[in-house]
Amino acid sequence: MVFYSAGRTTTYPDSPPSKGFRFHYLGGGDEVGNVGIVLEDQEGTRLLLDYGLAPTSPPRYPSEAPVVHDAIITHSHIDHLGMAPWLCANHRTRLHGTPLTASLSSMMWHDCYKVSSIERYPLSWDKRDIDTALDSWITHEFNVPWQHHNWTLTLHGAGHIPGAAMLEINMPTRTVLLTGDFDTRDSPLVAGAQPVKADVLFVEGTYGGRDHPEKNVEISRFIENVARVVARGGTVLIPAFANGRTQDVVMLLHKHLPHLDVHVDGMGKRVAKLHLDHGNFLRDRQALDSAWSWARRVSSKSDKKKALEADVIVSTSGMLSGGPALWYLNRLRHDERNAIFFTGYQAKDTGGRLLLDTGSLEIYGQLTEITLETEQFSFSTHAGHQEILDFAQACGAKDVVVYHTDPNHARPPLVEALEAQGHTVHEPVNGISGIIE
Ligand SMILES: [Zn+2]
Ligand SMILES: [Zn+2]
Repeated sequence: MVFYSAGRTTTYPDSPPSKGFRFHYLGGGDEVGNVGIVLEDQEGTRLLLDYGLAPTSPPRYPSEAPVVHDAIITHSHIDHLGMAPWLCANHRTRLHGTPLTASLSSMMWHDCYKVSSIERYPLSWDKRDIDTALDSWITHEFNVPWQHHNWTLTLHGAGHIPGAAMLEINMPTRTVLLTGDFDTRDSPLVAGAQPVKADVLFVEGTYGGRDHPEKNVEISRFIENVARVVARGGTVLIPAFANGRTQDVVMLLHKHLPHLDVHVDGMGKRVAKLHLDHGNFLRDRQALDSAWSWARRVSSKSDKKKALEADVIVSTSGMLSGGPALWYLNRLRHDERNAIFFTGYQAKDTGGRLLLDTGSLEIYGQLTEITLETEQFSFSTHAGHQEILDFAQACGAKDVVVYHTDPNHARPPLVEALEAQGHTVHEPVNGISGIIE
């Protein structure tokens, strides 16, 4: 086994804290994604929340986890569960999450393994470890508590993507709530997160300092622009993340533009099938089912060619860094009537970011100029600045720990606003333990 060739070494303390409880970020404290948080009290009760890797190029890995027998996996995005196979293989860690997160994990890990092999990124776990991890799941429904030593744990719906959970911990002396990735607004797929009363709130601050455009206004702008491109005879290529965004976009198109010919390609097809198998985690299973039977799923080479004639193609990868979306772009780029509509965040050095910044991107090793119209739409399912503030207030949290955030731009305005609301705010740094007394 390759042992953390790409990770940072751990500095986790040897003994339990002498007072209160300790939180220690292996990753995700002062960065977006790559999350791993160890929580421990004076009795030595220990729990890990998430263990992911950030799928940047090259990826960012959290530091090595200390021995933990139990880990909560909040949701099935790779920046929250990408390193879990290492835990299970090395520490026999049990993974706790919702049944949908457990079902989606296999696909996410296999995809992560495949991408790492193709891109030659180091990975400290291998394919056999995926099987160990799959055997390590203990699944929990929302609002059904279980005991973890002297703590009572409960999962609550987090919005964000289907199956995503917030964790409530009832310790003997206090209640702690960790949001994972969350959104209080409804999306086509999931209902927004509801506040839970807590003394201490760990909240993700991805959108600190930024408010989302009003949802209905953004949806109208999207729908109008799709209709405009189709009316001029063009095809709209919509690169979309497989796990959540692909299904949200197809549902929007089905609801607002049902007369269009929409084709779907990429891993999002398998994700949707699992969503439908776990319909209790969806806001409206019937709506996804109808949208999904309405859209044409691309499954063969001839389907792919047919899709080039479609009104809309929704496909992975969401950041144009590979996947069928690049194949479509390579064919569609010659006809100026076509357009590319981004529906998600485009990380640094990805194809999508390069295209937006420079007008060119690499297609199969060739730097290629793209003159097609590009547009960006904000369909984020992370809480915006104001939603985070309202949520912290509604939870009644005395202490708020802001993590999963850019420490230079997003966190400062959020910390300032939370302090103005009367919370005591903590700003975690990876590798340095914090104590809440
Ligand atoms: Zn995340
Ligand atoms: Zn997420």
